[in-house]
Amino acid sequence: MKESLMTPSASGKQAKKIKVAVAKGDGIGPEIMDATLSILKAAGAAIDPEFIELGEKVYESGHSAGIDRNAWEVIRKNRIILKAPITTPQGKGYKSLNVTLRKTLGLFANVRPVSALDPFIPTPHKNMDVVIIRENEEDLYAGIEHQQTTDVVQCLKLITRPGCERIIRYAFEYARAYDRKKVTCMVKDNIMKLTDGLFHSVFTEIGQEYPEIAQEVQIIDIGSARLAAHPEKYDVIVTSNLYGDIISDIAAEIVGSVGMAGSANIGTEVSMFEAIHGSAPDIAGKQSANPSGLLNAAVMMLAHLGQTEIADKIRNAWLKTLEDGIHTADIYTEGLSTQKVTTSEFAVAVTERLGKQPDNLPVSRMSDGNGHITLPEYERRDVKKTLVGVDVFIDWQGNDPQIIGQALDKVGAYKMKLKMITNRGVKVYPEGLDETFCTDHWRCRFVAGDASIKQAVPDYRPVDFEQVLDLQSKLNAAGFDIIKTENLYEFDGQRGFSLGQGE
Ligand code: NAD
Repeated sequence: MKESLMTPSASGKQAKKIKVAVAKGDGIGPEIMDATLSILKAAGAAIDPEFIELGEKVYESGHSAGIDRNAWEVIRKNRIILKAPITTPQGKGYKSLNVTLRKTLGLFANVRPVSALDPFIPTPHKNMDVVIIRENEEDLYAGIEHQQTTDVVQCLKLITRPGCERIIRYAFEYARAYDRKKVTCMVKDNIMKLTDGLFHSVFTEIGQEYPEIAQEVQIIDIGSARLAAHPEKYDVIVTSNLYGDIISDIAAEIVGSVGMAGSANIGTEVSMFEAIHGSAPDIAGKQSANPSGLLNAAVMMLAHLGQTEIADKIRNAWLKTLEDGIHTADIYTEGLSTQKVTTSEFAVAVTERLGKQPDNLPVSRMSDGNGHITLPEYERRDVKKTLVGVDVFIDWQGNDPQIIGQALDKVGAYKMKLKMITNRGVKVYPEGLDETFCTDHWRCRFVAGDASIKQAVPDYRPVDFEQVLDLQSKLNAAGFDIIKTENLYEFDGQRGFSLGQGE
């Protein structure tokens, strides 16, 4: 079954008005939201704002996440949020509203278009026009961290097949919907063969369904270097959470438009649109704020709702206003700008240009695509999972691998034997090198010791969980400090774990 990410009734050109939850936010929020809404109204956007209170006032009234029950209900009912920036109170006990919204509402895709506005925002990359689509919920940002020994802390990097399928398909659908020509996937699967390897293989798999879109995979390190040096070579980039966090800031910085950019947080149920910048308390109430970031977020919202022609109309009028030199204080340049305007005067200037196109800056043509994004529901595959061993992580304060290795060799466990020990991933027993530095964190790999059982992959044969329990009990009785265990599985005969470096 296909699931449409658009509000269904909004797909027609003269669509009926869609109710949108609108938060005016804090600081400059109300000023830039009023300016944005006045342009949307004049352009004929088919939306009907339903205002909610988020941020400072709600925090102060005792809601530690900055949102109350009524706002949740309006958001869940309307499914679309246009949000001005809010001020995050200082001090302990307050939760970040953005993180709360993103995680609670399952906003899995962060979409950030970055394009050059030279000479109004000077950049050496005049032809840059990139959309970064970042997975928003998984990866190292799952926030699962543990200290395991005196020396070692760990953070779990979780990459899931449904998460990969959803974000990668969204990127291809986005390219198709907005007439983009290429999708680049960025990973580090030369090192992280299972996690980033899954992202890469899902990209290749799903990419086959989009033969009209050019596709490439780059290793994130060289990919980010090339993005910084030659951003005009990129179109849509899809990547996991951490890499996306880093490259979306690189992209915004090199084009110099952090203050002008909008972003979308897309979920299967709810989507949220906002400027990248904060609430700018230093200029609040002065009518000097630039509403462009929020206006661009609103343009993305209209495109998401299928109102791509109105989205183009507003974006093109905005580009024309910039070209005509009508600028707010933050982008006003003597000699280049023609008029320094207030927030509301800027909105009037954009409104007056609705229907016009820019002469030099690239014309917005979102309506050339089909403006429609659908994602299928995830279907879990039926695979055969076989237990073939266990990694037992031990806290041991010694530093000679021979001592712990020989002691573990002597532990007689029911049909299991020590295969190897690694320290920080490098094999140190048997046959390690004296030069390898060892911490107090030892991964001890145990596999089936009974050679009579049929071999599935070299060195690994099916084991019973009873054997794993028996092993742990014997290790504990022998005085070893077990800090965690990881079962080793094969899935349909494919190894589901990494080998030790040097194994
Ligand atoms: P900021 O983006 O609000 O301001 C940084 C600088 O940019 C300031 O000098 C400000 O005057 C200027 N600026 C920002 N937007 C502008 C605009 N539209 N027009 C003209 N100038 C603009 O960043 P900050 O000062 O670090 O944060 C202020 C508050 O905003 C903090 O409470 C922070 O937590 C919050 N914040 C909220 C969001 C959000 O709601 N999405 C995002 C970032 C920061």
